[in-house]
Amino acid sequence: MAAKPPPLGSAAAKPWRSSGLRKRPRNGPQTPNARKRRGEAVAFLGHMARALYTSRMLSVEQAQAEILGRARVLPTERVDILAALGRVLAEPIRSTRRIPPWPNSSMDGYAVRAADARPSAILRVVDRVIAGSLPTHAVAAGEAVRIFTGAPMPAGADAVVPQEDVDARDGVIALRGAVEPGAYVRPAGEDVREGDLVLEAGRAIGAAEIGLLATLGRTQVTVGRRPRVAVLSTGNELADLGTEPTPAQIPNANTYSLMAQVVEAGGLPLNLGVAPDRLEAISERIARGLEADVLVSSAGVSVGELDLVREALVNAGAELHLWKVDMRPGKPITFGSIAGRPVFGLPGNPVSAMVTFELFVRPMLRAMQGRRAISRATITATALAPIVNRGSRRGYLRVVLEARRGRWGARLTGEQGSGILRSMVSADGLAVVPGDTSIAIGENVEVIVLREVSA
Ligand code: AMP
Ligand code: MG
Repeated sequence: MAAKPPPLGSAAAKPWRSSGLRKRPRNGPQTPNARKRRGEAVAFLGHMARALYTSRMLSVEQAQAEILGRARVLPTERVDILAALGRVLAEPIRSTRRIPPWPNSSMDGYAVRAADARPSAILRVVDRVIAGSLPTHAVAAGEAVRIFTGAPMPAGADAVVPQEDVDARDGVIALRGAVEPGAYVRPAGEDVREGDLVLEAGRAIGAAEIGLLATLGRTQVTVGRRPRVAVLSTGNELADLGTEPTPAQIPNANTYSLMAQVVEAGGLPLNLGVAPDRLEAISERIARGLEADVLVSSAGVSVGELDLVREALVNAGAELHLWKVDMRPGKPITFGSIAGRPVFGLPGNPVSAMVTFELFVRPMLRAMQGRRAISRATITATALAPIVNRGSRRGYLRVVLEARRGRWGARLTGEQGSGILRSMVSADGLAVVPGDTSIAIGENVEVIVLREVSA
């Protein structure tokens, strides 16, 4: 759109930083003629600038850095600890308790003084202490106390002899061997000491964290709010779920794969449905999407005449960047913000949409929740069959991972076309392969792990 050119200075100086499109020139000239001339000049230079920065290729890392540079952590909320599963801890947790509170036995046996415990020593059993009660006798020289797992150690005792290592009869025990001081005793505070920083803010809460919070008596915890993410699909050819595609239509896949990816990334999806390739229709959905914290659309972001998403975003007030990113699958992606809200225009091919979500949207959603670790784990695997990237762009190739003699092996899922959604179904990971590179059998390949893989 000639009327909405990108600002020039920034585009020339830092092409990948340029705000691609802005609503209108800020300081308009005063006379109608001057305004017209300026409009034409801006339109022309706008085309030039767009050509310049769209021809400029960003690395995936550069694009990620640009996106994450604009991440804002959402406000926090307090939730019950079980509801915190999978959420991001927003407060550091310091212990107000000592766990265990006292030294206790890790075995059923006899609490003794290690100094007394020589082979064939005979000790008198003077008390019995079970978990949930306190000892009433101290252990003096020549004495032992019957003790059970988890029961507090009696004063005087510094070791436990397991019951299978003694001969017990008539209130006395005969030891078979020596015991080290501290044997089978769990010291007070071995798990948590008072004042310990036990959980740092920014970590994801899993089952162990919830157990630890319970141990500390926490019923609630502060977590990052889940980002609400509006998901829009665009295209005249799309029949939404629940309607039978006409002969010229294909089913809408992206809304559902992307909403699922939103959930997996900790967000709450808002379905904006399908907009046909008409500016008003797209604009109307985008306006609804501004209720959310993030907007993700797919398709309509190339440079075809029906690619109206960018224009609709600009009309909605977006400052946009259009990037060619050095990756395959994935055409140019659009990223920007509307009143501080991140907006993403992902490519339409189902695999491209998912892979670009994975590389660009997911890290943003995690950062918005205050999460420290925002990237997937990568592993070095061995190619089990040749992995060939014929294109000049860096490939994110779908692979199956197999455990082989203590190492991970990777093999392509098959055809890598960006419309082949079933290749994502089989993919355990994405092999990251430089352009024009062939990886031979037995060579190493870096793989981003997308899901739990069992050996
Ligand atoms: P576009 O970016 O609009 O040119 O779309 C690229 C390709 O992705 C086209 O073949 C579209 O039909 C396809 N496509 C776009 N959106 C979807 C969707 N929501 N579900 C499935 N395929 C889609
Ligand atoms: Mg389209």
